[in-house]
Amino acid sequence: MTADTRAQVIIVGAGFAGLCTAIKLAEAGFEDFRILEKADELGGTWRENTYPGCSCDVPSLMYSYSFAPNAHWTRMYARQPEILDYLRRVVRRYGLGRHIEFGTEVTSYEFDEDADRWHVRTAGGRSYYPRIVVAAPGPLHQPKAPEVPGRDRFRGKSFHSAQWDHSYDTAGKRVAVIGTGASAVQFVPRLARDAQRLSVFQRTPHWVLPKWDRRLTRTERLAFRVVPGLRRLYRYAIYWIHEALILGFLHPRLMRRIEAIAKGQLRRQVADPGLRRALTPDYTIGCKRILISSDYYPALQRENVELVTGGIAEITADGIRTHDGSEREFDAIVYATGFAVSDRFAAERIVGKGGLTIQQAWRDGMEAFQGIAVAGFPNFFLMLGPNSGGGNQSIVFMIEAQAGYIVQCLRQMEQRDVTRIEVRAAVQRQFNRWVHGKLAGSVWNTGGCDSWYLDDTGANRAAWPGSSVSYWRRMRRLNPEHFEWTSAADREPEHAYHGPATLAAGTEELPVTVTLSGHLEPIDGAFHWYGRVAADDAVIAWKRANRRVMLTLPGREPVHARLVEVDPWGHVRISGAGIPPFPVESLEEIERTEVTGSPVAGS
Ligand code: NAP
Repeated sequence: MTADTRAQVIIVGAGFAGLCTAIKLAEAGFEDFRILEKADELGGTWRENTYPGCSCDVPSLMYSYSFAPNAHWTRMYARQPEILDYLRRVVRRYGLGRHIEFGTEVTSYEFDEDADRWHVRTAGGRSYYPRIVVAAPGPLHQPKAPEVPGRDRFRGKSFHSAQWDHSYDTAGKRVAVIGTGASAVQFVPRLARDAQRLSVFQRTPHWVLPKWDRRLTRTERLAFRVVPGLRRLYRYAIYWIHEALILGFLHPRLMRRIEAIAKGQLRRQVADPGLRRALTPDYTIGCKRILISSDYYPALQRENVELVTGGIAEITADGIRTHDGSEREFDAIVYATGFAVSDRFAAERIVGKGGLTIQQAWRDGMEAFQGIAVAGFPNFFLMLGPNSGGGNQSIVFMIEAQAGYIVQCLRQMEQRDVTRIEVRAAVQRQFNRWVHGKLAGSVWNTGGCDSWYLDDTGANRAAWPGSSVSYWRRMRRLNPEHFEWTSAADREPEHAYHGPATLAAGTEELPVTVTLSGHLEPIDGAFHWYGRVAADDAVIAWKRANRRVMLTLPGREPVHARLVEVDPWGHVRISGAGIPPFPVESLEEIERTEVTGSPVAGS
């Protein structure tokens, strides 16, 4: 089977992150990309989570791309269909539809070290061969079932909250909900309305802040459309309110004020002291993700609803037995038990340099540089990778910072005329020492709870240890020193020619000394040669002025060449594609090969 070599960049996932990367690439002129999406619809988490009441707990005006504001939000906190609709409109507006391949699930990624390309294979048997991979599968997309014995035994209906079965009507049924996290608090009030009996199984109580949600009035919506700057003003206000919270996440004692707001809601909404006690967490607010809801506590107090805190012993054929020995019968069980986060790559086949698998690279835990690059996996970028999530800010903000950074990486590759970018292992190590040092005192690590931010060893592999502004600052300008920039050709040790040559720019000529090598096998259909010109002020000046040059070796024809960069020793790196300036045995074959463009656009 031959690989599809047309796309230079493969983006995996058509959710907020993948789409943002695509838009930023297109804006920067990198049109050679495909988006592979396993489902038949875009939207990522906003396509998959369709449970009743599914909405965003970040205010709508902040939950959109900064470059594509939405004038149509109908609520303070948008609901899932509206967010999905927003993403569909973005795709239309940016003409991304033609780049997306739906129903295309990637099953493996393998790096080809000789060509600096990835073999990307799909479940449908297709194969791609891009220079760059951007994996944007979303950190919360692998539903996690609870480790409770007997799940297979249950004869009633059961499904995970992220795989809601809308063909099943819960009205009039006896329904169990296992889990009381961000998803459950949104759909429990809906199920409570018409279930015959609803039992909510809580293992650990969560802190719940009020949700000031309401429909936006017609006047507000009109104002957002027509008053210049109003939408942006709201967005800034929401942004900075969320941003201020990071102080509390990093210095947990500052969380007391927030905890007081949550306790206030609990006091106001729950009169029964026993229930209130059962709903009061014993850890610092923020340690688990803070929930936002104003209708969860009232729903729990309906006549047909009960909170079960006894702990689940097992699932039986007809229901759930708790540790106190009592058994309840149910028609349906909904697992609101969250997602695999820290081990979400456990089953992925990602093979980097020297056969290194992602599991081997992460045997001591997930680790990346600034959430996007992993040493040993060149030309591979992760969106929302380890330690780039936030507990306090719209994730869309982090996504935009990452997409912009990846575009800078690709630009640098083009400017340097290289085919490989790889984060330096030492840089990644140092970065992660800093990350985990900062997280050590954070509320996620010290708040006294267990959460999906922490992996099995208790290390926090999810949260960014600072404000989103601090992340944005780091991502705003790429520091090339953090990466190694090489070409497949550069790594060839043999020299094909060392000696005198003539370099010409326009009518000027310079005698120089060159050391040249070449790839005898064509890369991407073109013969590549490369090398250096010995330190020479005039050549350096030509490089700085970006002069077009021709290189001639004694007794040979002149060839077009490119002065790539000045190296730390003052030599000027030179390269070319096509007929080499020095003799090679297989010249006839080389003459037949085709010369193509840039490394990212297909050199
Ligand atoms: P979650 O926050 O991880 O909550 C999972 C729940 O299942 C917890 O209450 C957990 O209890 C419980 N659980 C797990 N295993 C259990 C077991 N064996 N027995 C009993 N209970 C068990 O999952 P989620 O609610 O799906 O939310 C996941 C994340 O998705 C959120 O944190 C948030 O980042 C995101 N989300 C966002 C929104 C939004 O509006 N933006 C909405 C929904 C979700 P313990 O606490 O004891 O572990």
